[in-house]
Amino acid sequence: MIRENKVVDLAFTLKSEEGEILDQAEKDDPFVYLHGFDQVVPGLESALAGLKVGDQKKVEVSAAEGYGEIDPSLKVIANRSQFPKGVELEVGIQFETETPDGDEVVFTVCAIEGDQVHVDGNHPLAGQKLHFEVEVLNIRDATTDELEHGHAHGPDGHGHEHLH
Ligand code: ZN
Repeated sequence: MIRENKVVDLAFTLKSEEGEILDQAEKDDPFVYLHGFDQVVPGLESALAGLKVGDQKKVEVSAAEGYGEIDPSLKVIANRSQFPKGVELEVGIQFETETPDGDEVVFTVCAIEGDQVHVDGNHPLAGQKLHFEVEVLNIRDATTDELEHGHAHGPDGHGHEHLH
């Protein structure tokens, strides 16, 4: 059963309110996550708790329980001079920065007008209702390493490439 400290293999489809497929993982290449460590949006994580291998479920997640409501204060106009020299600014590029309170936020450039660069730090799926269809493929206990790192290390514990 899915609960804290379990590593879960999921097949899923994520659709927008309009039925557009936003993301998916097939059975032969499942999404693997560590339950209870904020690896999936809160509304999905709570809906997955208690499911067993083979269970299928449709989960509707509100924006607030998904990627959050759109925060207008994260839509800002920066000046070109605030970006490091040598950065090729164009619409669609993303960069990471820190808010005054130390949170890391990914900003996306959404428009450029002369020296004015319009950036948006909202998640691309913020403000959207999310429609998940999930199937639970596997559940196992997390390893000590995984619990220390706060994320899953794949079905066989290999292929672990990231910075800590
Ligand atoms: Zn790790």
